[in-house]
Amino acid sequence: MQPQTAALMDKLVSLCKRRGFIYPSSEIYGGLNSCYDYGPLGVELKNNIKSCWWRAMTYHHDNIEGVDASILMHPRVWEASGHVEGFTDPLVDCRKCRQRFRADQVEGKRCPDCGGELTEPRLFNLMFKTFMGPVENQAAVVYLRPETAQGIFVNFLNVLTTSRQKVPFGIAQIGKAFRNEITPGNFIFRTREFEQMEMQFFVRPGEDSEWFERWREERFAWHQSIGIRAEKLRWHQHGKDELAHYAKAAFDIQYEFPFGWQEIEGIHNRTDFDLGRHQEYSGKRLTYFDEARKEHYLPYVVETSVGCDRTLLTVLVDAYHEEPAGDETRVVLRLSPRIAPIKAAILPLVRKDGLPELGQNIARDLMRSFRVFYDEVASVGKRYRRQVEIGTPYCITVDSQTLQDQTVTVRDRDSMTQERVATGALRGWLDVRVRYD
Ligand code: ATP
Repeated sequence: MQPQTAALMDKLVSLCKRRGFIYPSSEIYGGLNSCYDYGPLGVELKNNIKSCWWRAMTYHHDNIEGVDASILMHPRVWEASGHVEGFTDPLVDCRKCRQRFRADQVEGKRCPDCGGELTEPRLFNLMFKTFMGPVENQAAVVYLRPETAQGIFVNFLNVLTTSRQKVPFGIAQIGKAFRNEITPGNFIFRTREFEQMEMQFFVRPGEDSEWFERWREERFAWHQSIGIRAEKLRWHQHGKDELAHYAKAAFDIQYEFPFGWQEIEGIHNRTDFDLGRHQEYSGKRLTYFDEARKEHYLPYVVETSVGCDRTLLTVLVDAYHEEPAGDETRVVLRLSPRIAPIKAAILPLVRKDGLPELGQNIARDLMRSFRVFYDEVASVGKRYRRQVEIGTPYCITVDSQTLQDQTVTVRDRDSMTQERVATGALRGWLDVRVRYD
């Protein structure tokens, strides 16, 4: 059972803090608005999500290559991409209390906080600016990238010539992006520093719509492959007024959060806008020569763009369940074993008769392949509860029978069923259940 929507976010934020998934950034100084740090469990979960995405994109497709571009790029990149001119939100200021609002989020001409008069809307660029080198002047301005995509477009030729790929092919990247959002919020849903997982797929013009449909289907399935419930996902198609300047078509995958249906991933048909603009601004020819057809063209781009942090919030919200357990309530994170931070806990039933030593040996063996946790403190029921609350899918109990026949009990988090598994077979038993393939 999931708690009432209003309470769910509060409970989740508190669980994340208490168990070491996510903390406010610089907390001992009072925190920094909309910035968060991932703790020991959070970083495991995040790495697992990234790894599932990376495998799904690059390992499972021999026509997709990976890159890792730098965050700081030549400032002309952002002129070519349209971000210097157009990556803006219209803002209004209250003349009385000086509070700032996004123009589309206030009704009328009065400040929602103090009733003061509002200014006319002014455009506010969302890119973070900084300076490169010792001199802080206009010529030294560089930006923290607001999306990872441009690092891929500027490397299109490099990857093409060094990887021997032919169109159609894709380039995938995971990396940080920064946006000076006016209205961050809802925990890690919208922050000013976040990670994106993007893939740009280069295709022959005319074949873009077909590839667009293929990637839509594949990306929708991916979210389910990391355990997100299908009934909580839906499509939203961008209408003409919502379409970005570069897009011919765009669909969002939305998830039903406690605060409403929200975008978690965008699939965009970017046409040849980006390569065309970079060709124009850099003066470098970026066309592709199709040997079979003997023709030069600028490829079209089908893009899939998903936030890593937003996906992490999605899997947590989707997984959070409460169940009655006697007089108490048991919290269960029903995370897919593929992304769960800890894959198995090893628990000796009692702290004597050599059971702890046996358990430690099992843990030492498994930890070379999986993130596991050894725990001998408190009653076994309590230890189970601690594990299900953080989404550990399997608890391995070492008991007196283990001494006789080298088997352990493996308890499943969701069904609570138990089975005996030979200690020598544990590694393989776990591997098929937690591996992403
Ligand atoms: P939104 O309208 O929600 O701000 P967007 O349409 O600007 O997002 P895109 O530019 O298409 O988003 O970015 C692709 C993905 O990157 C989004 O689907 C989301 O998962 C993630 N993302 C974008 N902005 C943020 C942010 N400020 N914080 C966390 N994730 C973000």
